[in-house]
Amino acid sequence: MPGFEIFGEEERRQVQDVLDTGVLFRYGFDAARKGHWKARTFEQELAARLGAAHCHLCGSGTAALSIALAACGVGAGDEVIIPPFTFVATFEAILTAGAVPVFSEIDETLCLDPQAIESRLTPRTKAVMVVHMCGAMARIDELKALCDRKGLILIEDTCQSVGASFEGKALGTFGHMGCYSFDPVKTITCGEGGAVVTNDAKLYDRAHSFADHGHDHIGNDRGAEQHPIIGYNYRISELNAAVGVAQLRKLDDILKRQRANKAILKSALAEFKSISFRHLPDPAGDSATFLSFMLPNEESARRIAHEFNSSGVDGCFYWYDNNWHYLRKWNHLKQMQVAAKLPAQLNPNCPDFNQVTMPRSDAIMGRTICMQIKLGWTPAQIEQRIAKMREILVR
Ligand SMILES: *Cc1c(COP(=O)(O)O)cnc(C)c1O
Repeated sequence: MPGFEIFGEEERRQVQDVLDTGVLFRYGFDAARKGHWKARTFEQELAARLGAAHCHLCGSGTAALSIALAACGVGAGDEVIIPPFTFVATFEAILTAGAVPVFSEIDETLCLDPQAIESRLTPRTKAVMVVHMCGAMARIDELKALCDRKGLILIEDTCQSVGASFEGKALGTFGHMGCYSFDPVKTITCGEGGAVVTNDAKLYDRAHSFADHGHDHIGNDRGAEQHPIIGYNYRISELNAAVGVAQLRKLDDILKRQRANKAILKSALAEFKSISFRHLPDPAGDSATFLSFMLPNEESARRIAHEFNSSGVDGCFYWYDNNWHYLRKWNHLKQMQVAAKLPAQLNPNCPDFNQVTMPRSDAIMGRTICMQIKLGWTPAQIEQRIAKMREILVR
């Protein structure tokens, strides 16, 4: 996830445009901004790149999830199916919306298992939020078919997988809405930023209104605008959007370099019988931000991750022990430690998250290591990594 690795002159030039005009706000000030519309430019270029009809750029990926839930009408009392391997933002956005997150098992795609979802459905299930983890795709065609069959909203958290695709179609464009993050550690960055995309003009209108206090954004007199809905402020500034414009234009080059680096490491690891790989429903669509692989058991995975990291094969994440990305260590959720009471706590159908068990996901995550792929590695550094990995794996 290397946006920061390639920060350079292009980003500086885009930001300078904004500094030169002093217009930091994304709406209005038509004359003063001298033709610079950074948020709008980013939205047009991201929509075109992904093949989506509409895009709205906002303040963060977490904001994008909240906007998508609101635009899709997911709120108090609704249940949303999510995987236990994701980022805390997934359940945060659902709880903030007044809804209840319902966990459902992952499979070896490291994403929601479409088949497991059926047993989690209730009359209150409103949406499925699939999370395309670590740069690659869930079984998105099956998930889409399931949601269509059951009349459920499908929201794609594509925060970690911008630029990835399934059978040629961009992840984030299969469901009702796709959400992206451009925080400092994502594939491309705005510093902080996020986006929603959709092909549905009505959802788009609700999204940009919700993200800006309900403004309808019709005409160019902000004071005269109507407020079709109650909204909030999830706006991005022109400074952040400017960084994003430069980064987005580097996306295809980033993907090319990631894919090349990953392919070399993957073929080196494939020599070891003890190693298997994450299942990729369409390997060609992988954005290759991570190389995810499985060891035979929890003990060996934990040990290998530790030995890799401590011998210079850095950036190897053992998410099973991590408290941002896997349910097992989310003690604040399990104990519902909140700043202020949430609607879900008044909901008799809200589960006790302490009691939620995901044995199949545990069995997968306990064996899985995800190695971050860097852009800046030289061929010699990649060779060194491979030599070290071989040394450790044959031991
Ligand atoms: C990063 C991330 C988010 C949140 O994005 P922010 O821009 O940091 O708010 C949401 N979901 C997933 C899966 C992420 O990795």
